[in-house]
Amino acid sequence: MTSAALTIAGSDSGGGAGIQADLKTFQELGVFGTSALTAITAQNTLGVHAVQPVDARIVAAQIQAVLDDLPVKAIKTGMLFSAEIIQSVAHELRAYSAIPLVIDPVMIAKGGASLLQNEAVAALKDQLLPAATLITPNIPEAEVLTGQLIRSERDMVLAANTLLSMGCSAVLLKGGHREDVPYAEDLFLTANGEHFLMRSKRIETRHTHGTGCTFAAAITAELAKGHSLEKAVVTAKHFIQLAIENGIELGQGHGPTNHGA
Ligand code: PLP
Repeated sequence: MTSAALTIAGSDSGGGAGIQADLKTFQELGVFGTSALTAITAQNTLGVHAVQPVDARIVAAQIQAVLDDLPVKAIKTGMLFSAEIIQSVAHELRAYSAIPLVIDPVMIAKGGASLLQNEAVAALKDQLLPAATLITPNIPEAEVLTGQLIRSERDMVLAANTLLSMGCSAVLLKGGHREDVPYAEDLFLTANGEHFLMRSKRIETRHTHGTGCTFAAAITAELAKGHSLEKAVVTAKHFIQLAIENGIELGQGHGPTNHGA
């Protein structure tokens, strides 16, 4: 039977990030995509123009409807927006702890719009992080979650260990925001002490909208197909690298990565 994956995330009307990026990535990697919408954004390549959260009860009802029926083998969360929605998601997922959960702790869009309310950070840390098979922060997100500055590889290791101490099983700390090195180096670290670095060349492009969503969705798709977490992360790194190299020139701003790369 075809495996399904569930994304619990926000809608990007421009089609480059959020639910749309996740579903395109699932499709590209041969997994049936299902979704629970947490927020609607009015968005294009220039930025986020408006945000409307979905009622937390409707978020819960979507998750229940999907998980009651479809063969979901991996779950991903993206934009969760409020503490109320996080609480609702955590509550619904409690009965499904056997399904791998990838948490992309989405906070701020590249254009600066807030996709997670400040007061929701504590709920994310306390209620959802401990349930994560993997959390995939970029450097600014890891700095908010840990309260630590990250300026070097050593800082990345320290921050990843702090994130593990919050209860998640593994961390993929994405190093693309580091300014001290000419490459993008991501650190993978598990609670069992397994760790590796994935280095790739930095690609000069403005078409990077939705990169984080696509990377986490690719990991989720590979997990849904039954691959190990380590293998899923490595395959997804190749996928996102190709997707950025083949970014699409659409609109006037930050065009999307190519989910079909
Ligand atoms: N909009 C939504 C709904 C998202 O989930 C995300 C992803 O993190 C973004 C926008 C941000 O996209 P970016 O920062 O890549 O422009």
